[in-house]
Amino acid sequence: MSEATDLVDVVIDDVQLSVPKGTLVIRAAEQAGIRIPRFCDHPLLKPAAACRQCLVEVGMPDRRTGELRFMPKPQPSCAQTVTPGMVVKTQHTSEVARVAQHGIMEFLLINHPLDCPICDKGGECPLQNQAMTEGRGKSRFADAKRTYPKPLRLTSQIMLDRDRCILCQRCVRFGKEIAGDAFIDLQGRGGGTAPTDDHYFMPEQIGSFDTQVLNFHDVSADGPRPTMLSGPYGEAGLIGSMDPGDLPESGRDQSGRAFASYFSGNIIQICPVGALTASSYRFRSRPFDIVSTASVTEHDASGSALRIDVRHGEVVRRMAGNDPEVNEEWITDKDRFAFEWDQQSRLTQPLVREDGKLVATSWSDALDRARRGLQAAREQGTVGLLPGGRLTFEDAWAWSKFARTVLHTDSVDARARSQSQEELGFLATRVAGTGLGVTYSELETAGQVLLVALEPEDECGSIFLRLRKGVLAGGVKVASIAPFTTAGSHKMGAEVLHAAPGTEVEVLAALAAGGAHEDLFTRLAGGVILVGERAARTPGLLSAVSALADRAGARLQWVPRRAGERGAVEAGLLPGLLPFGRPLVDAAARDSLGWGDLPTEPGLSAEDLLSAGVEGSLAALVTGGVDVRDADDPARLLTAVERAGFVVALEVRASELTEMADVVLPVAPPLEKNGTFLNWEGRLRPFGQAVSARSLTDRDVLVRLAREFGVDLGVETLTALYDEVNPLMSWSGARVVPTDTRPPSPPAVAAGQAVLATHKPMLDAGRLQDGAPWLAGSARRPVALVSGATLASVGIDEGDHLRLSTDRGSLTLPVEVSDLPDNVVWVPECSQGSIVHESLGTAGSVVTLSTTAEVAR
Ligand code: SF4
Ligand code: SF4
Repeated sequence: MSEATDLVDVVIDDVQLSVPKGTLVIRAAEQAGIRIPRFCDHPLLKPAAACRQCLVEVGMPDRRTGELRFMPKPQPSCAQTVTPGMVVKTQHTSEVARVAQHGIMEFLLINHPLDCPICDKGGECPLQNQAMTEGRGKSRFADAKRTYPKPLRLTSQIMLDRDRCILCQRCVRFGKEIAGDAFIDLQGRGGGTAPTDDHYFMPEQIGSFDTQVLNFHDVSADGPRPTMLSGPYGEAGLIGSMDPGDLPESGRDQSGRAFASYFSGNIIQICPVGALTASSYRFRSRPFDIVSTASVTEHDASGSALRIDVRHGEVVRRMAGNDPEVNEEWITDKDRFAFEWDQQSRLTQPLVREDGKLVATSWSDALDRARRGLQAAREQGTVGLLPGGRLTFEDAWAWSKFARTVLHTDSVDARARSQSQEELGFLATRVAGTGLGVTYSELETAGQVLLVALEPEDECGSIFLRLRKGVLAGGVKVASIAPFTTAGSHKMGAEVLHAAPGTEVEVLAALAAGGAHEDLFTRLAGGVILVGERAARTPGLLSAVSALADRAGARLQWVPRRAGERGAVEAGLLPGLLPFGRPLVDAAARDSLGWGDLPTEPGLSAEDLLSAGVEGSLAALVTGGVDVRDADDPARLLTAVERAGFVVALEVRASELTEMADVVLPVAPPLEKNGTFLNWEGRLRPFGQAVSARSLTDRDVLVRLAREFGVDLGVETLTALYDEVNPLMSWSGARVVPTDTRPPSPPAVAAGQAVLATHKPMLDAGRLQDGAPWLAGSARRPVALVSGATLASVGIDEGDHLRLSTDRGSLTLPVEVSDLPDNVVWVPECSQGSIVHESLGTAGSVVTLSTTAEVAR
């Protein structure tokens, strides 16, 4: 060992090096610039030594004599850690290693099909590359190759060609070690029986534990079920394996299969061959036809790195980018497969209203009409802006400056969702201008993380994966204040502090007081509290969380749901809040921006703007990227827009809002522009333009519109914008913030009623998943969850349909029992058949529970 005791001296192919203790030989070789071929090895998965492609000769000093002795057989370098004095000979210096690797390659190809010309992996396939460089030019295998029926559809999105599989188990290890979803595994033993039509004995193969997919022997069936994988003489195949049993509705996806995972697409990317392919990409392209661009997800606030692959100007797939500081090499299925949304009902031309109808017009006409309408409205009364939470920082900056310097209004609010004045104060004091806060890697070793109003698996998948990694490594424990133990909490081994909607403040108070949760409170010292955007729904919750963090000595980090929300806060897209935490009421803060004369009184929040709209006192409204179903009361939002004097919409796609607008200005989706998102950590996540397009960004449009007013917005180029922004990114002055902490008021429920709990599962009926039918098929089926006592009080059985109703409407879903408090019902917020804000109300509403039989009467 070298002087530093944590370093080990080894020799690899005559290269001497010192590497940290515990380093795998294959990694040590990489550090020496020596590449050893491999298939099953993956730096983020545990060693499996499954493919044996990385065999090398390993010698170690004899313990007694110190004489170097080589092991009798070659060793897998992916599973062998370095030891002092080790000498390794790879294929470059050892005939033994070279022959061993050559033999493994021949062995892997014995049953491998000659599919390369039609295989999706062709051109980027490690097996193909290795076979071309190291394999035999001609196969010595003269018999028929083993075949399987193909492809098998594991989920609606993932196809499996078993004869291409080399049994490396990367997919299996990902499911178990990373996502925590054991949806694919090895089954069978050996090579199977002689390859006639099918196999009598199932050979070792990869697949899902789904009797419908692989036709395993089903113990609940009457004898062996007739199988597609029948024996060679027509009899049922003898196949034994796990049986999933009767899956409840919540265990299935929309296609009826067993729910796989929200992260299943990662196994396609890490499969070293073309055994796993995506329905959305199969046969659509070749790697050499593709132009790739580094990008960042627009689906949540994770900031996950992506690679967007474009063929002939059309996106054909998205892959995970490799960013060790953020998403490592993993992304969610939504990040990967939901990329067609911006092509659905796309707006391509400016529209103006004439004789009650929207008609296409030129940009100059549309901008002129928008200017005239807004100018007139400015003189008549309130002009408000709802820019939505999906803007890039650059676009958000342009909106903020346009509102204050062109329209001279501070009534701008990016929160067209549940919100409160208390949240505004929280964002101004705890979020805006705070820079990089808690990071992904800090979560792994935080000791204790408390989740409040946040389900990371559903709402920010990369946080979930990082927390689970930390939990498995023993670096962090997770606790969650939630109405029930979600699948994500279960996989993180989270301690759940059950809270009905509206009672979270009480639970936090009890936690702060010690008592039953004294250990948790103690562990929070130096730990982290992650509070989700949904906390704004409960009066007093953000104040209580802040107080707990201060008292316990924990770091507090806000996790919004949309990609542009943190950037919107920093750009000042909130009433009373100028960029990077500057309070509007502070003259010094206003002056520091150099934006000239600005409004001096805080404007209206989104909530107040909607009230003004409904009352008919809103002279004009400018909207952008607002999803109607995100509003607490979608019908109220539509009424407000309908009654507003003049409406301008900057939108990528047609929507209910653009249908009501007077002027519609089409803008570019993230794919067609470059820009920067700020993720939940506060980290800048710049991304490039993936396809060339003539569409205009929000910034481009607002610059042109400002010009119509005779104002130079000063951000026509990105260089100009960054020159303006960079000196303004911190604010050390006072933070005068109007805050209004309403006392918590848990709703009272009568017999036959329950309090509504809800959040959005990752895959649902959101507009950013439009145009992805295979992804939609892999989403969980919506169910209503209640406690056993609540179910009994309604008088129905698990699996029956439960009807929930309020004054607003009703919805009916299959019901299942979970560990909720009594008189609480949870339903998914925006899933097929469960559009909650539209049908019932927001979380915390009191709903009436009834059976469908009662409805029929
Ligand atoms: Fe060819 Fe690789 Fe596909 Fe096998 S997995 S058929 S080697 S491209
Ligand atoms: Fe490996 Fe791919 Fe087979 Fe899974 S399907 S074991 S990742 S080759």
